[in-house]
Amino acid sequence: MSTLDEKLESSSFVKSAYDFAKSAHEGQLRKSGEPYFIHCVGVAESVARWNLDDQSIAAALLHDVVEDTRYALRDIETHFGREVAFLVDGLTKLEKVQYRGIESEAESLRKMLLAMVEDPRVIIIKLADRYHNLQTIKHLAPERQKTFARESIEIFAPIAYRLGMNELKGEIEDMSFPCAYPEEYEWLISTFKSLYEERKNYLRRVTSVLRNELIASGVQAVEIQKRAKHHYSLYKKLLKYNMNQDKIYDLVAVRIIVPHIGDCYAALGAIHKLWKPLPGRIKDYIAMPKVNGYQSLHTTVFCLDNRITEFQIRTKEMHDLAENGVAAHWLYKEQTAVNDSVSAAKARLGEQERQWMQRLKNWQKYFSASQEFLDSLKNDMLSDQIYVFTPRGDIIELPEGSTPLDFAYKIHTDLGNTYAGAKVDGRIVSLAYALQTGEIVEIMSQKNKKPSRDWLKAVKTSFARKKIKHELSVIDQKERPSLHLLEITLVVEDRVGMLRDATAVLSAHHCNIEKVTSGVASDKFATISFLCSFKEKGVPSALAVKLKKIRGVREVAYRTESSK
Ligand code: MN
Repeated sequence: MSTLDEKLESSSFVKSAYDFAKSAHEGQLRKSGEPYFIHCVGVAESVARWNLDDQSIAAALLHDVVEDTRYALRDIETHFGREVAFLVDGLTKLEKVQYRGIESEAESLRKMLLAMVEDPRVIIIKLADRYHNLQTIKHLAPERQKTFARESIEIFAPIAYRLGMNELKGEIEDMSFPCAYPEEYEWLISTFKSLYEERKNYLRRVTSVLRNELIASGVQAVEIQKRAKHHYSLYKKLLKYNMNQDKIYDLVAVRIIVPHIGDCYAALGAIHKLWKPLPGRIKDYIAMPKVNGYQSLHTTVFCLDNRITEFQIRTKEMHDLAENGVAAHWLYKEQTAVNDSVSAAKARLGEQERQWMQRLKNWQKYFSASQEFLDSLKNDMLSDQIYVFTPRGDIIELPEGSTPLDFAYKIHTDLGNTYAGAKVDGRIVSLAYALQTGEIVEIMSQKNKKPSRDWLKAVKTSFARKKIKHELSVIDQKERPSLHLLEITLVVEDRVGMLRDATAVLSAHHCNIEKVTSGVASDKFATISFLCSFKEKGVPSALAVKLKKIRGVREVAYRTESSK
């Protein structure tokens, strides 16, 4: 781990970025009344702590220069090179004049995500920026606090999670929670405050018993932590269990950090020697890592006083990866031979993060409208995910609540469009069936099958919904009968009710009046012209007869126009 202060001493590049940003922001104040530059330093401190390279630290220091000072991007490029300029550009919002309101926010976000798939350092610096701004959220106007906090929970915390930065995700959520959902937060704190305290005291007793047993068994523990569950994550878990507090075993969990993998299993043995495990709650995420790469041993036991308690055991490296994800990769992945630091940044991503970024890259091409883009980002890319399998064993990731139809569209648009039914683990399921992690999904398709309107209600992903809507509109176009235009001109002795009578006859013959014009034929007669659209070609003879029979109609003339 390094600090910004160390970097400022050891790297003249970082130092010159520091000086440049400081003078550029000279005289500017934050809403809190502090000098603006404090923010730049705060962001750079996180970036340095996460072990990113000098380019990233420089970009962190300079990240608001283009947006908020008289300097332009080419000044950054001249002084600090293209790479730093690229990072700063990715972090610079689009100008408000180009887009408005939600448009501007969504488009800036899209721009940043695009830059991020090119170079993951962009988003890590952005997360540091968000983290620092959340620390001073109280200085924003109340309404702005709420939207800023909710956006942090809905967009930035999930991105941190996707990058494996779990600790940061928890902190972003907990800083945002009181502003985003004040009442829910108050309730949670008042309900759980004493419980948290009581659990901590209890676990103090547990860890002292455990420590002795580990020593007796010859297991070396680097550290035993008592970790209180993050407030927002507790709140989400309570929502899932209908607010039933008895289901929460990990309000405060015990975490044991050991030097080597072998020690993990030895520590697990020592715990089970002391306390009886709950059946089905021993999880070996070391042998079988979670899809996001998470590794640990988990066990839940009948602990002291017969109370149910969860333990997590892992090595220091697993721990750092679990807490800091992408940032920890910088620490653990060997220096690669690649010279340019963009490739180096990418090489340091874990496999999961790499795949997610690739998906993000493919996905964002589909959504052009800002609101659609935002909805789909939250709904499809950043929501909680499930993992299901194709019959061939390929793993497919979908948002929680997805149906077999979402699955079909995710695999291929044609498979979705010709969907005739689905089997999940060999059983036929309904259209609205919510898939669960681990299930094997088999899609039955039928040639010439077409989407129907009720499919729109049976999908969860914006992606599938968009595909269905598109296909429905194609079908509509094809099946809409071509219309024939007909101009009917009546020469009449004008009288009150003439127009009404003529219109009634036309309607009775299913012609659609598009336009009515009237004129003068002579001093005795007037003309009324109807431009009508018909489904059939030609004039129904019955219509002509009926029109002639209207009192005062002298002549009826027709003229067909080529249909559109
Ligand atoms: Mn900033």
